[in-house]
Parts: sequence; structure tokens; C-alpha cells
Amino acid sequence: MPGIKIHVLHTGTVCVSPDLPFGGDHCNPIKASGIFQPRKGRLWLPVSVYLIEHPKGLFLVDTGWARAMSPAGVFDKKAQVKSLGSLVLYEVNQGQVPLGQCVDEQLATLGIKTSDIDAVLLTHLDCDHANGIVQVADAKRFVVAADEVRFASKITNRVRYTKDWWGMVKLDEFEWTGNLGPFGKSYDLLDDGSIQLINIPGHADGLFAVKVTNEEGRFVLLYSDGGYAAKSWQEQITSGIAADKGQQKASLAWIREQSLDPLCVESLANHDPDVEPHVIEL
Ligand SMILES: [Zn+2]
Repeated sequence: MPGIKIHVLHTGTVCVSPDLPFGGDHCNPIKASGIFQPRKGRLWLPVSVYLIEHPKGLFLVDTGWARAMSPAGVFDKKAQVKSLGSLVLYEVNQGQVPLGQCVDEQLATLGIKTSDIDAVLLTHLDCDHANGIVQVADAKRFVVAADEVRFASKITNRVRYTKDWWGMVKLDEFEWTGNLGPFGKSYDLLDDGSIQLINIPGHADGLFAVKVTNEEGRFVLLYSDGGYAAKSWQEQITSGIAADKGQQKASLAWIREQSLDPLCVESLANHDPDVEPHVIEL
């Protein structure tokens, strides 16, 4: 069987208070939100998506920002507030995506039509991961944990999640049927163990890591917002805002264990400022 190739792509950037990704256990969530903090000192972090070229199909992990966030490819407050659905969410995280960097624009550069994507794997439904669904709306399937849809539907999460981001597609919701990961909850996408979606809650209830394993057992771990950078698992740094810190810590401990496994080829956080776009041959 031919090998697996993973393209690490950056679809613009997200701007947050440094405490949001790296605030730690005792951080005040209001402070981490940055809402009442000066804009100076904020971090601009990459927003990644991953294209998996697999012998059984093309799979896209997350979607990044919609073009509507930056219609002209530059910072545009009015456009962001509209696309994010509220001024409050805009205050927590701003985003911009230069021309040519939206996920569909980058796929086109690779010679791939969005309708060729067999499944979009939505690690969770936060804006910087799901706001760009509209760019790939004609993909064949949109896979998300049923737990995440339930979490996103909570009244207390009304600002965090806006259904408009995914309202134009049919979500294919799955329940955990496998027992991998820190909480023994996983889903075997292709029924052959090669793409495992593994629940790593804490940041969001239905958040999953994507573990892509080749025939020799070597694997790549994409853990999205399970941690914001390699240092998150290396130093066990929790984020300033978490749905459940205890779960987040257990998830980070599992990410650490996986990342230190000799069979782990690469372990990637979605927003790690030290990760450049590149291609992994697995
Ligand atoms: Zn994120």
C-alpha cells in the first residue's frame, strides 16, 4: 500500500491574550479572555489545517478561517465581528487570513478540488477551526463528535459557538465506539486503525486528537487545542480558559505520553508558533 502524506498548512493567524493559551492552573479566565486587557502584548498565532493524503482517500483536519473574516486579505474588524457573530468573541480572538491562505485557496494550489475531500474532520467547533467550513462546503462528509455538538448547543456557550459556521452543511455526528485515549473514548474513522479520533476533553467536551498511523505503527499526532504548543505538554501548561481544567490536565498527560513514544514521528499543536507549514511522509 502506498504511504500516507500529511500537509501542514497555515490558514492565517489568530490573535489572543498570552494567558489564553498559556495561563496555567491559577489563571483568572476573565483576564485570559483579554476582553478588558490592552491589545498590546497579545500573541498572533498560526491557525493550522492538515490535509491527509491516505490510500483510502483525502481527509482534511479542521478548516481555519473563512474568507469572510478578511475579505481583502487584511485585518478587518467589521468583517470579523460579522463572521464571528459577536463583538465579545471578536474581543477574545481576532483573526485574519491573507489572500491565498484560506483552506480552499491552498487546496487549489495543491491541485485539489474541495469536492474531492472525502471527509472533513472537525476536531471541535470553535471559530478558528470551524468558521472556514463554508470554504469547503462541497466536501463529501463532515465528521464531528456528537459530544461536541451537544457542548456547542449549550446555552452557556452561545457566544463561543455560532451555528452559522456549520449551518450550510450536514454534520455527520459520531458517538465514541473505541476505548483509546485519556478517557477511553475514541472513534476509528476507517475501521482499520489508521486514523483514530481520540477524545481529549478539557478545552471542549468533544475535542478529539487525530492519530494517523502507518502500517509499521509509526504515527503522527495532531492534537489541535489539547495544548497550544509543544511546551504545553512538555511543561504541562494548561490554558487560561478551559471548559474543565482537570480533564485538560489528563489530556495533556496523555499527549505527553504519546509524544514521547519512540513511534511518534511528529506531535503537532494547531497553534504552535514554532511549527512552519511542511509535509510529513509517513
Ligand atoms: Zn483553536
